[in-house]
Amino acid sequence: MILTKDRLIAACDPHGLRPLVMGRLGEAYIFASESCALETIGAQYVRDVQPGELLVLDQNGLHEERFAQMERRAVCAMEYIYFARPDSDINGINLHSSRKRMGQRLAQESFIDADIVTGVPDSSISAAIGYAEQTGIPYELGLIKNKYTGRTFIQPSQELREKGVKMKLSAVRKVVEGKKVVMIDDSIVRGTTSLRIVNLLREAGALEVHVRITSPPFMNPCYYGIDTPNTDDLIASSKTVEQIRQAINADSLYFLSKPGLVEAIGGHDGEINRGLCMGCFDRDYPTPVDFPDAKITCGCD
Ligand code: SF4
Repeated sequence: MILTKDRLIAACDPHGLRPLVMGRLGEAYIFASESCALETIGAQYVRDVQPGELLVLDQNGLHEERFAQMERRAVCAMEYIYFARPDSDINGINLHSSRKRMGQRLAQESFIDADIVTGVPDSSISAAIGYAEQTGIPYELGLIKNKYTGRTFIQPSQELREKGVKMKLSAVRKVVEGKKVVMIDDSIVRGTTSLRIVNLLREAGALEVHVRITSPPFMNPCYYGIDTPNTDDLIASSKTVEQIRQAINADSLYFLSKPGLVEAIGGHDGEINRGLCMGCFDRDYPTPVDFPDAKITCGCD
C-alpha cells in the first residue's frame, strides 16, 4: 500500500506471495492483508488483489492497472498453515476449513490410537478438530493460551523464547492426566517450543504424547518477509524425523506430506493447487534468492 497526498495505491507482487483484499464500506474502498479485517469494520469483501496488479484510487475513483504480468503464482503456504486468521479467506479458501482438512489428512496419513486430540492454540485448533472428526478420537482443550504474549519463534534470544513459551501456554491437568494425547501443531522451527509443549503435557500427567504437524519439515529460511532463523538453527535442516522426535521428547512424530498439504489447502479447487510457495519446505522458491543451492523455478530470465 502506498499513500501519497492525493492517491492511494494498492499493489500485489507478481507471484501473489502475500494476500491483499479489496472491500467496500459504503462509498469507500478498503484494502487489507486479511479479509477478516473487513468483517471487523462491517465492510463487504469485493475481491483479492491479483498478482502484478496495481489499483490506484484518486479523486476520479478507482483505476485498475498492471505493473507486471503474473509470474508463477506462489501464495505463501505458511499463510494457510499458520499466519493468517482462521476467519480469513485467501483466494476464496477459508483458513479454518483448510486447516481442518490438514488435520483430516494428517489422520489419514498417520493415524494413532489415543484418548484425546488437542491442538496448540491458536493456529492448530482447527486442524485438531479435523483430526478428531476424521478419527473419532475426542477433541479436548488440553492446552490453554495466555493471550497477552507475542509469537515465540520471532523472539530475539533463546532465553526470551523459552520464557515466552512458559508464559504463553498451560496444559490442563484434569484433561490430559493419565491420557494418551495426540498433539497437533502447525510447524517445528527450532524445536524449542515443541519440546517445551510436549513437556508441559507430560508434567501435567499425559501418559503418551504423539505429535502431528500440519506442514512438511521446515528446512529452509524464508526470503519473503517472514523472520525465520538461519538454516543452521532450523532443526529439520540437520536432523531426521526420528532425531527430531527424540529432541522434542515425543512418543511419535509425523509431518504432513507435501501432496497432503497441497490437497488440504486447495480443497476441491484445482487452481490454487498449482500456485503455492513452499520454499521453506522444499527450496522451490518462486524468485531467484541468495541461496547457493536453491532450486529456482521463477520462469523469468
Ligand atoms: S518461503 Fe515459506 S514462509 Fe516464505 S513465503 Fe514461501 S512458504 Fe511462505
